Order: sequence, then structure tokens, then C-alpha cells
Amino acid sequence: MITRTAADLADALAAGETTSVDLTRAHLDRIAEVDGGIHAFLHVDEEGALAQAAESDARRAAGEPASPLDGVPIAVKDVLATRGLPTTCGSKILEGWIPPYDATVIERLRAAGLPILGKTNMDEFAMGSSTEHSAYGPTHNPWDPERIPGGSGGGSAAAVAAFEAPLALGTDTGGSIRQPGAVTGTVGVKPTYGGISRYGLVAMANSLDQVGPVTRSVLDSALLHEVIGGHDPRDSTSIDQPLPGLVDAARRGASGDLTGVRIGVVKELSGEGYQAGVQQRFDEAVQLLVGAGAEVVEVSCPHFVHALAAYYLIMPIEASSNLARFDAMRYGLRVAPAGIDDPSAEQVMRATREAGFGDEVKRRIIIGTYALSSGYYDAYYGQAQKVRTLISRDFEAAFAQVDVLASPTSPTTAFKIGEKLDDPLAMYLNDVATIPANLAGVPGISVPAGLAPEDGLPVGLQFLAPALADDRVYRVGAAAEALLEKQWGAPLLDRLPEVATK
Ligand code: GLN
Repeated sequence: MITRTAADLADALAAGETTSVDLTRAHLDRIAEVDGGIHAFLHVDEEGALAQAAESDARRAAGEPASPLDGVPIAVKDVLATRGLPTTCGSKILEGWIPPYDATVIERLRAAGLPILGKTNMDEFAMGSSTEHSAYGPTHNPWDPERIPGGSGGGSAAAVAAFEAPLALGTDTGGSIRQPGAVTGTVGVKPTYGGISRYGLVAMANSLDQVGPVTRSVLDSALLHEVIGGHDPRDSTSIDQPLPGLVDAARRGASGDLTGVRIGVVKELSGEGYQAGVQQRFDEAVQLLVGAGAEVVEVSCPHFVHALAAYYLIMPIEASSNLARFDAMRYGLRVAPAGIDDPSAEQVMRATREAGFGDEVKRRIIIGTYALSSGYYDAYYGQAQKVRTLISRDFEAAFAQVDVLASPTSPTTAFKIGEKLDDPLAMYLNDVATIPANLAGVPGISVPAGLAPEDGLPVGLQFLAPALADDRVYRVGAAAEALLEKQWGAPLLDRLPEVATK
């Protein structure tokens, strides 16, 4: 039961073959069995999830399901505020904080009847590509527990890959949904900026952050996206416009027919730095798309080579400002400085931040405040914003020629835990292919493209579309998934090695 997709589980609920309580219980049992070795969860809400499941079953019995996914359980990245449930953002500074309110996306999950299994592990404040920067210890990749599950949303991806949850929510500021999807063999979607409310999402870099689905199939992502998406007056950047038909697009794509669809392979997102097996699986997938009728051309986005540099200014700059709210006065941790009898507020702040923030967070706050300081603002922030504009123009020019862009999601497969921890630049390079979409606000998806021949680990295939055309990533993503699964004879996750029970 737990290996089925959310769409299948929803059908089984509708047909009366199972109940939400049984389904939720099965996933809680799986978490109890394997999460000791995976560590996808920071908090499991057994009681709350089962109570929500019982309510869902009562609605079904009355013939009034609240949504197509009513009763299908979900896991939530610990950066989203959940009323009554701990929300740590993977940081010691928020240890013990229980939000008094729900993020809009959580409200929408509750209204649609999805029981919330718990909160998933993440790099501290979503800064990282491996989940090793969590203050609560790393998450392990279900394909190989010695390897990272990607980041920052490694917990959500690992939970879905290890069948601990059929669905999860993640957030993507520079790739934190798509890259974990790629390295765990799951599907991840970063929606158009403004397409999903950020109200109650603890901000890292608010001009880049987006909430999105983490699932095992493209259709499941579309179903979840339709539950959480759409306008929210409480988020001033929320787009006041109906979502395009995402589930319809995914169903249409599943036919595998891509006649007339123009796909651009991004020249700058290949070559040096891309693992041979990643490139090979990507090239093979593109050939399948050609066979399905797509017109594939190479396109150049010349400014993408500067995306990483621009991102690692804009992101820390915004984070340094957003994280100033963790001042020991309002939330979470408060540390009394040692050896001071009557400490000032500033001394308490300093001691709390010293103890409560990890190294990566401190590193980025320092870079951000430096780059914003008088005399450097124009040289760093101003320049980075100009590069951001050039990247948006590259997208505009590319989308004048093609419907979607394609690239590998991540340049390599999952690396070993500890391998890049002491080398921040090597860690940052994981996001070369995902970051341009965040800088321009366009939607993207990562779908499994197979296993790299040299290490047997999952490879991700990324599609990007123009802002507001999220339906295109679902259509082409579903087509790629259908074509690849036909070739493999089964979903990629069927090849997942047995996950160790703890
Ligand atoms: N890995 C990127 C970073 O460290 C992206 C993180 C994210 O998308 N939250 O900033």
C-alpha cells in the first residue's frame, strides 16, 4: 500500500478499498520502522495525523470528501509554520518554538483533508544542498545511507523516496526542491514565483523562496499543487490570477505525445563539472522526447554562467536582513551571556546568536551584511541585481524560440556525507542548474531520468517554463516520466534497495 502513488491512494479511498486511518497508520508504522536510519523527520505527529485521518474518513462516509486528496497523508518541511507543532527550520535558535498560526499552505492542506504526518529535516534555514547543515543531524539518502539526500529539503525528499510519506512539501530558493528530487529519484516542482503563498514560510531570501510539491509522480505533484496554489491576500507577492490546469496538463502529458512541443537544451548547463553518467542519462532522455515528437534544439543563455555568483550575493543579502528577527527577544532560544551579571539586550542577542546559529548561517549573514554595507552596496547588490535582469532576459529570448528548456537538474549524483562539508564553494556548485529559475521567478520540475551507470544513483531531468506557464512543466514532465517508465518497465523507485530497518 505505501509504495503506491498519492493518486492511486486517492482512488483507493474513493473506492472504499482503504481508509485514511489505515493509510495514515501504515505510513506512521513505516516511519517507526525506517526513520531511525533515514532521519527524514524532526517531529512526527502521530496523534494529530490519526485524528485528522478519522475526520477524513467521517467526511468520506458522509459522501463529502473535501478534495481529491482528502485522506492522503503528507509530510511538511520544517520551515513552514504549523499551529501547535514545533517549527525549527533545522536551527537551534528556534528549538521549542510552537507557532500560534498555520502557514497558508498548511491551512489549505488542512481544509483539503490531508493528515499531516510530521515535520521534515532540512539544512538550517534552508541554506545548503545536503541537509548536513541541520542542527539536528543529517538525513540519509534511502538509495545509500552513506550519501546525502540533497538539500535543503533532504528530509521531504527522503521521506517520499523511502515510502514514509506519499507526498511532502518543500521550499525552493535555489534548488532545494528540485535537487533533492534529482538525487533521491523523486519528483519535485518549484512553481512560478508568487504562484503559491509564502505566508507562514519562514523567509530565507524572500524574492527567491517558493513552496512546492515533493512526490513520486508528476501527476501527484499537480494534484498537490492545485491544493496549495492560488492567490493569498496575506502574501503581497502572491499572483492574483487563477492557476492554469495543472492536473489536466499532467494527464495530457502522460499520453507521451509531444508532437509540436519545442524543447530547448540549455548549452550553458552541460559540459565541464557535469558527471559523465548524469550527462549520459540526460542525453538519452532527450532522445526519447525527440522520438515522441518533440522538436529539440540547443539554445544559449549566455548569462547563466553568472547565476551562481549573483545568487550567492542576493541570497545572503536578503537572508542577513530576514534573520535579524531572531534576536532572542521574540522567539525560541535565549542564552544568558556567561560572566555578565546584568546583561544588556545586545549582549543577550550576541550570546544567543553565537550559540543558536550554525556555521553556514553565520557565514551567510556575514557575507550579506558585508555586501550591503555602505560603499559596497552598489558594487555587490547593485551588480548582482543587474545580472539578475540579464538572466531574466536570457529566459525571455529562449522562450521566444521554445516552449520549455531542459537540462540535468544537478551536475552530480548524491555525494558522500561529509565529502563537501568543509568546502562551501563545492557545496554551492550543486545548484548551478537550478538557480537561474529562482532568479527569474520561472517554474521548474525535476523528474527521475534513471540511474547513473558509474554509481547506480538517481539522476534528475529538469524542465523550465515561462512564468505562469506551470502547466507546461507538468505536461512535458509527465510525458518524460511516461516514456522513461515505459522503457524501464516500472517506476525508478521500484529499484530502490531495501531500506534498512533501524
Ligand atoms: N542550496 C542552495 C543554498 O544553499 C539553495 C537552498 C534552497 O533552495 N533553499 O542556498
